[in-house]
Amino acid sequence: MKGLLKGLGVTFKAMTAKKITTSYPDVPFVMPDRFRGIQHFEPDKCIVCNQCARICPTECITLTGKANPDPEKKGKVIDTYDINFEICILCDLCTEVCPTEAIVMTNNFELASYSRDDLFKDREWLDSNNHNVRKDNNNIGAPAAAKGGAK
Ligand code: SF4
Ligand code: SF4
Repeated sequence: MKGLLKGLGVTFKAMTAKKITTSYPDVPFVMPDRFRGIQHFEPDKCIVCNQCARICPTECITLTGKANPDPEKKGKVIDTYDINFEICILCDLCTEVCPTEAIVMTNNFELASYSRDDLFKDREWLDSNNHNVRKDNNNIGAPAAAKGGAK
């Protein structure tokens, strides 16, 4: 009898407890802010220093630069920038080393696809992945000086 009452107690407790299931994917799942998700890349901020590609442990970043078309300005501008999300482990190292915050992490995580080819993301796709940028990067778009300059 005691066991029965104990079991019913557990049942009623579970029946009245707050539900933890969600209606994903109908209702988007909000990740914690420290979650490291798919990167956002801003081509205009990139100085083609190659540090992100050099530090990447899986060598999944490929980039090319070209001479600045503005004859008044020195240096290079980014031409192509690709990340292979088949092997990216979202470790955050590329964003940590970037001196201009051209590449930052977001809270986005949805990359499921029927084709592996779809996991190669180019600069246009990464540029358009500009929502849910992590809050420690929420001054995105501000000039580097407003953020205390380069890291
Ligand atoms: S998150 Fe890590 S694995 Fe992915 S591109 Fe950046 S450095 Fe490479
Ligand atoms: S580290 Fe930043 S500025 Fe340098 S190439 Fe990578 S994205 Fe561009």
